[in-house]
Amino acid sequence: MKGLLNDICANPGKFVANKMSTKPYKIIVGLEIHVHLATRTKMFCGCELAYGEAANTRTCPVCLGMPGTLPVMNKTAVEYAILTALALNCEIPSFTKWDRKSYYYPDLPKNYQISQYDLPLSRAGSIEIPLEEGGTKRIRITRAHLEEDAGKNVHTLGPFSAVDLNRAGTPLLEIVTEPDMNSPGEVRALAQELQRIVRFLGVSEGDMQKGHMRFEPNVNLHIEHGGQVFKTPITEVKNLNSFRALERSIAYEAARQYEEFLETGQTLQMGNKKTFGWDDVHEMTVLQREKEEAHDYRYFPDPDLVPVEVGPEWLEEIRGRMCELPLAMQNRLVSACGLSEYDAGVLTGERATAEFFDAAVKLGADPKRACNLLTQVGLKLANEAGTPVDQLKITPDHLAKLAGMIEAGTISATAANTLFERIAKNGGDPEASAKEMNLIQSSDSGEIEALVDAVIAEQAQAVQDVVQETKKAKKARGFLMGQVIQKSGGQANPKIVAQILSQKLDAMK
Ligand code: ZN
Ligand code: MN
Repeated sequence: MKGLLNDICANPGKFVANKMSTKPYKIIVGLEIHVHLATRTKMFCGCELAYGEAANTRTCPVCLGMPGTLPVMNKTAVEYAILTALALNCEIPSFTKWDRKSYYYPDLPKNYQISQYDLPLSRAGSIEIPLEEGGTKRIRITRAHLEEDAGKNVHTLGPFSAVDLNRAGTPLLEIVTEPDMNSPGEVRALAQELQRIVRFLGVSEGDMQKGHMRFEPNVNLHIEHGGQVFKTPITEVKNLNSFRALERSIAYEAARQYEEFLETGQTLQMGNKKTFGWDDVHEMTVLQREKEEAHDYRYFPDPDLVPVEVGPEWLEEIRGRMCELPLAMQNRLVSACGLSEYDAGVLTGERATAEFFDAAVKLGADPKRACNLLTQVGLKLANEAGTPVDQLKITPDHLAKLAGMIEAGTISATAANTLFERIAKNGGDPEASAKEMNLIQSSDSGEIEALVDAVIAEQAQAVQDVVQETKKAKKARGFLMGQVIQKSGGQANPKIVAQILSQKLDAMK
């Protein structure tokens, strides 16, 4: 082993496992994701879900873990979980049950979490993630199961700790992937794609700031040397709640593990998995503890809850609620509407935006023009108002009309932006608003011809440059164009001006 380490230390660049990477190792990452489901009430009691309410105001004897209380399953939470699992191409077994996972901590007054152990509600799925360099990659999903969230311990109130149980009992969907990701960027892409999916499905707000999605990557390295692969011990980074922390912690862990391997030569063995936290300030992982094995949790079936049978009829009913998924929609906007990958990605960032766009195109809008208006003006206004774009006063019909008016040369693209903003804020008809704001372009060729004649008479030098095709000809033509538009007070349709100007100048050659 010593010889190998010296060898690697002397020539780290020689040990390139992944040809795409210049690093002497391949990163292996699997992910565990906890997603808050946006049901009205908690998983096993009738308390309403709330964020930012006064501590312990959304609690009852069930979620406080009082002895003698009985949990009642939230059917909507199960349906949201199954819908998400279907979107992740999972198998949905017809029989699933609840288990108790024991652990003793102040934020969990029952001393156990209701979860699912050996018979989860879904398994063996996959998710397609878009890659930065283009194309997609399929990541296998091991399972997705339902459980309840714990409360929150608070350590900032004084020389004591407090506990807020408003969150205790919130439905949580735990999604576990296979270790199929090989870079921090791929892990980020998966996290973001999943966020887009749960938002499209309407099963979660997926708000990172509110802790709706929490990530726990399992990271290790494969280091190749002399035809042999050395695997470093797996580390799990707990409770990451931003894409940035997720990406950085993996990059950090990879570098740290490689260094540790060079120092110690330690490789993956049963029982040497470690748990780390992420220090956001110093941007480094911090060792927390050696990992408990599953049997430490003393899982056993919850005697207070009946197992769940998912019959074909119920399953079909849930499947009927499936919508077109964001990546499929993004690909369709590229192939059917001719949008760029980037534009299609922006539009499918939110379902409301994507459907607004779709509706406008169905009403005849030119896709590129509709996309520009929607992404350049619509999303900015929606963002300022803190609402989805379909909550503004503008409708897909308005958008289609605006796009049509640009196409017909009735208004300029700049005028369309102004009109979009006005209608989004105050409502109103696009054409009437355009007239009212004096934004209609003149396409009256008689009127434009008179302006062209006047400019030709005034600008003899520029005209000469064009007619004699001097070096300045191109610039002169642009100048004449500008003069005509200016004379019209910015109202002349540039296409028609260019046409008439060309005719006149060509006739003088
Ligand atoms: Zn409750
Ligand atoms: Mn969990």
